[in-house]
Amino acid sequence: MTDAVVAERVVKRYRAGEVEVTALRGVDFTLAEGAFAALVGPSGSGKTTLLNMIGCLDRPSEGRLAVLGQDVGALSRSGAARFRGERIGFVFQDFNLIPVLSAAENIEYPLVMVQSWPAERRRARVAKLLAEVGMTDQAGKRPDQLSGGQKQRVAIARALATGARLVLADEPTANLDGETAQRVIALMRRMRDEEGVTFLFSTHDPRIIGAADLILRIEDGAVRTEPAAARETAHA
Ligand code: ADP
Ligand code: MG
Repeated sequence: MTDAVVAERVVKRYRAGEVEVTALRGVDFTLAEGAFAALVGPSGSGKTTLLNMIGCLDRPSEGRLAVLGQDVGALSRSGAARFRGERIGFVFQDFNLIPVLSAAENIEYPLVMVQSWPAERRRARVAKLLAEVGMTDQAGKRPDQLSGGQKQRVAIARALATGARLVLADEPTANLDGETAQRVIALMRRMRDEEGVTFLFSTHDPRIIGAADLILRIEDGAVRTEPAAARETAHA
């Protein structure tokens, strides 16, 4: 079995004019396929930086980053875009749904734009995903007619639409109330259980962290891995 993510001495520096910021100074970790992992750390610790590199939206300054068996540092710009479109799903804090499209059309969008599926196959896939995230009755509604939790359920379905094997979620519950946040995380966890998709989500909400079976804690530009078992023992 390939690991979903392997990071070896990953460094990321940003240059802003004359000033260089080292966001990550040597990150090492392995994320097994099928993991449900929380990336945890205070604001500015590098969570978005790390998720963007895993999602091939940006690349490491140094080190090796393998995603679903692919060394992503070695991909060309167009190769990275294709790899991202076929293998990786994204869920964002502010949902990023297209306002003029219905819930169903938002889920269908990557199937049209990225993968050009035929219409009948698209319809079947969208119907299945709407049912899985409990949104069949809201299929025709636009984002502004949906609650935050409903919007995030649509976004999760969209992230899974193309058959992505890895879903990256950057603070997916930051704009949701506590109870809705728990439900959205439970939904993601169920999708992991049912589809075997690997989830990596960033958060600083302790209630959400509890749902993960692996914690990647970012501190001082490095990542420390805490298995859930160790965490439970520590709290016992
Ligand atoms: P988090 O998501 O944990 O809040 P980020 O990954 O956004 O953290 O940021 C990590 C560090 O990198 C911060 O010091 C931030 O200011 C810096 N940073 C992030 N993106 C950029 C950028 N595009 N240019 C310059 N510095 C950046
Ligand atoms: Mg961030």
